[in-house]
Amino acid sequence: RLASWQRELREQFPIVAAHPELAYLDSASTAQKPRAVLDAVQEYLVTRNANAGRGTYPWANATTAALERVRERVGAFLGDPAPDRSSVHFVSGTTEGLRAVALDWLAPQLADGDEILVPFADHEANLVPWREAAERLARAGVEIVVRGLPYQEGSGDYDHRALPGLVGPRTRFVAATHVHHVLGGDMNVHRLREAVGPDVPICLDAAQSVGHVPVDLGRLDVDFLVFSGHKALALPGTGAVWARQSRGPAFRPGGWSGTPNTVGLVSLGVALDWLAAADVGRIERWTTALAARLTDRLRRLPQYEVLGCQLSLAADATAQPRRGIVSFRHRGLGSDDLGFVLHSHGFLVRADSLCRAGARADDARDGAVRVSLHVHNTPEEIDGLLAVLDTLD
Ligand code: PMP
Repeated sequence: RLASWQRELREQFPIVAAHPELAYLDSASTAQKPRAVLDAVQEYLVTRNANAGRGTYPWANATTAALERVRERVGAFLGDPAPDRSSVHFVSGTTEGLRAVALDWLAPQLADGDEILVPFADHEANLVPWREAAERLARAGVEIVVRGLPYQEGSGDYDHRALPGLVGPRTRFVAATHVHHVLGGDMNVHRLREAVGPDVPICLDAAQSVGHVPVDLGRLDVDFLVFSGHKALALPGTGAVWARQSRGPAFRPGGWSGTPNTVGLVSLGVALDWLAAADVGRIERWTTALAARLTDRLRRLPQYEVLGCQLSLAADATAQPRRGIVSFRHRGLGSDDLGFVLHSHGFLVRADSLCRAGARADDARDGAVRVSLHVHNTPEEIDGLLAVLDTLD
């Protein structure tokens, strides 16, 4: 039953159907779009394309109303039953959203000696803005302390045992990641909240979770959640910052009062509808199972090293599940060469430093091959990939 459900959904991705000889294994970079999203884009542009928030003729009114519905859709999709203009803010993506939280909301509140905890080994987009905030403050004579959130590669999660030692009375803010973009670990946000206590705002980079795993703000005690539309099956140039606004001042991002990405946001609403109908929980189970298949078999090939999540769930109750992302290295071959071989066999994977903060572009050991999955991927694609990997020793 699961397989026929999956086949039906796979057929809804025109780019996948058009290239039976290729396996798209890079959904963590950007996701392919289902036909419903492509059709909605065409339909909107052909029948009622207009600007939003200005103009009083029917197309303009329809666009303004459509974007308000997308705002509600975003809130509902994330588990916020009553989203409004103060809780859902449209941005061009996670990078811009995190920057807005760092520079427009966090920085003005910080004082000399305040501490923030941010991930040093996650995506660069979730480190650079916090560092920039600290640098701007330093230029204004305010010295804050930026501490690294410790990651435990073995459990695929932050190192919750080390956290109490890093949190103190001056801790004002924590930036974290929901699903790690290289290691695939699904971070235990509940334990993070326990470690920092009830008063410290947490900002969650949900770029790899929204659209891939169920996200429920009713159960995540975070203050900001930021994601990119293009990784959630919508067009690029879209995304949102969801803000809870109960810890600290209201979030009022500056800098983008011009024309919104109307067609992109229309695509976001349709993409979230599509995901909800497809059932994100089922998508998560499918991609998690494919990742487990790849991981288990790769571990039996001694020439490969699988990154992160080394512990099995059975062996350590604190280990977090690995989602649909698996990164690995060949012990002899550089990751760019390995990527080249895989591409030549039709497996479209990411093979470089993977935007990981702290990775040095000139150091081959910092590179890896990343396989990231979505609902259109199949066990046959994983087995085909493994067959090629097995030929390289
Ligand atoms: N954070 C994480 C965890 C990501 O995986 C990415 C994209 N690879 C980003 C942030 C940045 O997203 P975007 O490029 O869409 O702004």
